[in-house]
Amino acid sequence: MAKLDGKVAIVTGASSGIGKATAEALAAEGAVVVAAARREDRLEDLVERINGDGGKALALECDVTDEEQAHGLIRRAREEFGQVDILVNNAGVMQLSEIEKGLSDEWRTMFEVNVLGLLYATDAAIEVMKEQGSGHLINISSLASRGTRPGLGVYSGTKMAVNSISEALRQELLEYNIRVTMVEPGAVETELPERITDEEAREGLNTMLEQLDPLKAEDIANAIVYVVTQPQRVSINEILIRPTNQPN
Ligand code: NDP
Repeated sequence: MAKLDGKVAIVTGASSGIGKATAEALAAEGAVVVAAARREDRLEDLVERINGDGGKALALECDVTDEEQAHGLIRRAREEFGQVDILVNNAGVMQLSEIEKGLSDEWRTMFEVNVLGLLYATDAAIEVMKEQGSGHLINISSLASRGTRPGLGVYSGTKMAVNSISEALRQELLEYNIRVTMVEPGAVETELPERITDEEAREGLNTMLEQLDPLKAEDIANAIVYVVTQPQRVSINEILIRPTNQPN
């Protein structure tokens, strides 16, 4: 019997990178996976592959910044599969730039996706998990939640918010048997930097990345599988993962 047989997991931002790898890893452990993001074609490919490999997955188009859509995602998952055991709040955007550049649309997008989107999905999932008397929230934070530097301030701020929200949730929800984990990856090779529009920030990041042997999305997915397969009494609250040669 696989470790997550009978469990239902929702992964936001499952169309690429860490979310996609996590959806695959959870399905490989026997979970029924609901894969959500905006790019439906990518989700369909993922779900087809999981189902073809003997797993069970469903693609649901969802923009997490739309509260109705985020709530609808949780509702649909429950209607289809009867329960929601794991929510991986992974959808995220990183658009680096120094604050004096005033790229306020990008600040807004980062807060809307990384913070508000997480809250909307969590809000709906908590309701289901409280009724069930169990559940596990996995919030994808970042090494950037632990400090910042020029160009990283707003993104760091969103991830610091994720940590603060995660710790409050842990304290608020323990009486309902709901576990909360924040996952803080260092540099992972994904599409995340592609949305950076500020040339200076993009070059700075590329220079840093060239000096590293970055993590693979699968490395983070493996950590998430470890976290969600512990006995119910074990709550791993925080997990920080850097590439071995990433200094800070
Ligand atoms: P990707 O860009 O590959 O993945 C981001 C995912 O978020 C995509 O699937 C995208 O899907 C989804 N997404 C973005 N906006 C929305 C939205 N409005 N609604 C729903 N989904 C959305 O990057 P990563 O895999 O690297 O990022 C995943 C998480 O990991 C993020 O939270 C990121 O901050 C975090 N992280 C990444 C690190 C790295 O080095 N790569 C390091 C630390 C943390 P779509 O566009 O189809 O909607």
